Amino acid sequence: MELDDSTLSKFGFIERGPKDAINIDPLQTGGRLTEDARKALLEWGDGYSVCDFCGGVLDLIKKPPIQEFIHDALPAFLDADAVRITHGARESKFMVMHSMAQEGDYVVLDGLAHYSSFVAAQRARLNIKTVPHSGSPEYKTDVEGYATAIEEVISETGKAPALAQVTYPDGSYGNLADVKRIADICHSYDVPLMLNGAYSVGRMPIHANKMGVDFVVGSGHKSMASSGPIGVLGVKEEYADIVFRKSPTHKVKEVELLGCTARGATVMTMIASFPDVVRRTRNWDNEVADARWFSSKLEDMRIMQMGEKPHNHDLMFFEAPVFYDISQTAKKGRYFLYRELKERNIHGIKSGLTKYFKLSTFQVGRDNLSYVADSFQEIIDKYQKAE
Ligand SMILES: *Cc1c(COP(=O)(O)O)cnc(C)c1O
Repeated sequence: MELDDSTLSKFGFIERGPKDAINIDPLQTGGRLTEDARKALLEWGDGYSVCDFCGGVLDLIKKPPIQEFIHDALPAFLDADAVRITHGARESKFMVMHSMAQEGDYVVLDGLAHYSSFVAAQRARLNIKTVPHSGSPEYKTDVEGYATAIEEVISETGKAPALAQVTYPDGSYGNLADVKRIADICHSYDVPLMLNGAYSVGRMPIHANKMGVDFVVGSGHKSMASSGPIGVLGVKEEYADIVFRKSPTHKVKEVELLGCTARGATVMTMIASFPDVVRRTRNWDNEVADARWFSSKLEDMRIMQMGEKPHNHDLMFFEAPVFYDISQTAKKGRYFLYRELKERNIHGIKSGLTKYFKLSTFQVGRDNLSYVADSFQEIIDKYQKAE
């Protein structure tokens, strides 16, 4: 079939829409570009832009300072021995699972792990054992459950799992598990531990070695103010030769990276935002204070925060029976909340959700958070008066 002009006219530059809304979408608060990253995106936007400077190994490019970024700055930032750039947290996790485990081996995942952890294990042809968590309202991962899960795998297969993973924080409730304790448990069975920091690396201080984890994974587009897809992977020295093994035929190319990963604008936006990202992790205590303050404002309206309390992260899950009740009689039913928030220039609670929703307060600031909380109250008042 020939592509005609009327079809082609649908493509080309497309505007995204209003960009000035107050954004509380957990997927988006940590991935918004800095001004420098926005400039870098234009400057380095051509295809393989960084490859002009490459002698065969992407992470050894000296100018622009990709080598210094990947081999000095990121290891210092993550407190990890060896670091590479990947295409995202899931790609990092897959690389570790695929290289550390053999087909049919087990990986232990926290039950609240992101779907991409399960899919990465499936792509690597591994079996999965999950660690349970408590129910409402805390949904806390059962830290001692890592021992139970590992022992179950050993008794069922005669072999310890190849790897365990902890999601830090989990992507539903924003809970931060006791990683040190989990690492001690895993290491007592000689099982290495991977920390999935998709929601932490680039938001809060993460020190892989100090926390006792063997692998650390981050997401550039989620938490490092980068234009994705891009992620980071930090590896403990003793596993670096396994995960970053080189091709027998193409001696400088690393197999799990398929030779090279982020080969253009994405890595340059991560580098452009890096100074800001490092500095914002030093402001983490204030971010946590903002999250707690916002949570208490909502609880005053009987919108209840699930997960750890007081909370230790900007990602929060709320249960709002008050909005659910309104949705039963409101015009357009459950879409009323999204519409009311949109009218108030607030973006980020998924369309159609009322009873349960997630949001993030990261870098939103007290003034805007106060405006969001007031807007919730206004919406409640408006509909309750109408009843
Ligand atoms: C968003 C998210 C991911 C996926 O990150 P990508 O970089 O897009 O692969 C993985 N794990 C958790 C917990 C997440 O929240």
